[in-house]
Amino acid sequence: MKKIGYPDRHDPKFSTLTAQYLALFTVADLNRMENEWADWKTRERVTGLLPETVKDLLVSDVASLASVYARFKTLRRRIPLKTINPATGKKERNAKLKKLDGIFCYTNKYDDDIAGFFVNHADELHISSCHYCEMSYINVYQTKKRQFDIDHYIPKEKCPILGLSLFNFVPCCQVCNSRIKLAKEIGRNQAEYEKFNPAGEHYGFDDKVKIRLRNKPGFKHNLNNPTAYYIYFRCKDGFRRMVDFFHLTERYEFHKTEAIRIKKLKAQYPKSARRKIAKMLGYTEPQVYEDLFHERFLKDNHRCFAKLMSDMMR
Ligand SMILES: [Zn+2]
Repeated sequence: MKKIGYPDRHDPKFSTLTAQYLALFTVADLNRMENEWADWKTRERVTGLLPETVKDLLVSDVASLASVYARFKTLRRRIPLKTINPATGKKERNAKLKKLDGIFCYTNKYDDDIAGFFVNHADELHISSCHYCEMSYINVYQTKKRQFDIDHYIPKEKCPILGLSLFNFVPCCQVCNSRIKLAKEIGRNQAEYEKFNPAGEHYGFDDKVKIRLRNKPGFKHNLNNPTAYYIYFRCKDGFRRMVDFFHLTERYEFHKTEAIRIKKLKAQYPKSARRKIAKMLGYTEPQVYEDLFHERFLKDNHRCFAKLMSDMMR
């Protein structure tokens, strides 16, 4: 649910970052990939449909990735994901897609280099907690081994040509990647493929979704009774789809006590009380607020549940 902290496209840091990403690939490898991709396109007569070069695909922005995927999907009827192998009679991955898997080869070829790229840029890109759920820390190192998964936002199984695209990667926790998302896509159309990608410049989850603590019908308001409450995600602009996809309502329900703790603190220290404390100690009111609720600390340091805490304050 958290935007990946890529610099603005017009910021020189952005071109440095994409150049550093492209440098993971040797010139010889890039040339070989370009040739094989061009051959594949000619063979399948799709050069007009997919004019992008390998280099374009590696650093295409999220809008272009969404467009590439929508166009690639139009080939599904002609190039289905699985076909029957005449030799064995069994359904298996289409040979034409296998060829693409080999060209845009992520697993066992570039995956370690790409993980290294994210580890090296973890501070700059604010990679700290899962970008899909914000419930787990993901950059804990153990003997230099990365402790986070990198999801292909648009699944490489369905669109192998985006298997190495920088803005198709989402650092996330194992639950989100290996138990929930797997090889599924989140959106249903081009606009949604773009909208729900946390690598996007205009990723709007924070604005469009608010986490609320609601009173259960039939229960009196009583912050000492957690069963009287439930966590609710209020969504605009279709973001319900993303919340439901990652089962955020159920998963956050388990952490309801944290939301209740904040609500209690808020009730104990209303604005008037904070003003008095500030006067008494010679602090500013925002200082007292921050010391009590740590809102800025959680946000600036990209701690887990930062959004939950912040939304509880509104
Ligand atoms: Zn997660």
